[in-house]
Amino acid sequence: MSVVIELKNLTKTYQNGDVETLVLRGLQLTINAGEFVALMGPSGSGKSTLMHILSFLDRPTSGTYVFRGKDVTDLNNDERAALRLADIGFVFQAFHLLPKLTVLENVMLPLVYAGVPLADRKHRATEALQRVGLDERLEYLPSQLSGGQKQRVAIARALINNPSVIFADEPTGNLDSVSSEQVLGILADLHKEGRTIVMVTHEQEAASVAKRIIRMKDGVITG
Ligand code: ADP
Ligand code: MG
Repeated sequence: MSVVIELKNLTKTYQNGDVETLVLRGLQLTINAGEFVALMGPSGSGKSTLMHILSFLDRPTSGTYVFRGKDVTDLNNDERAALRLADIGFVFQAFHLLPKLTVLENVMLPLVYAGVPLADRKHRATEALQRVGLDERLEYLPSQLSGGQKQRVAIARALINNPSVIFADEPTGNLDSVSSEQVLGILADLHKEGRTIVMVTHEQEAASVAKRIIRMKDGVITG
């Protein structure tokens, strides 16, 4: 099985003025292609920090990160942005949709950065929204949607570049149980298609959709 993510002795320290906080304390981790992993642990244990590093939104302080066999520890911002665009989708707990853009525009946005022509962008975004059952809401603003619908738009946006790896940081944390089930169902389908999914969750039902649970505590992987 091919390895997608490999961390060797990875650390992260935040520096605020004179105060240093060691948030990740030497992580070893391997995730194979096609895995569905749930990352669990108490609040403050470093889950989001790890997700941001894995998805190239943030950098480690020391150690090594190998992504698809390539050492990506020291890539510059452009190289990291290119990797994100090529291969990674990210779903946030709080959706992070742009309030003044329509549903369709929100989902098309990553393709603007990729230089895809408008007609293509519309076509692909509409398809992605079909996938999450929201192709009848293309011209709505985020404020006109329920939480569950917002999260499905955010998933469509994460899928627009056809990523092979999807990170979801507490994707059901703000949702009612029916919407949570829909979101978990979509993630399970994406896993069945062969995509690698890494999901942070506090909820047992959510974790039970995953095939492996990684537990963190105080910046350490405990199991
Ligand atoms: P989790 O997602 O598991 O709740 P986080 O990764 O968000 O944990 O945070 C882990 C620790 O890192 C917390 O103690 C948090 O206060 C600290 N932390 C997160 N971001 C920053 C930052 N930008 N500056 C300083 N400390 C931070
Ligand atoms: Mg978090």
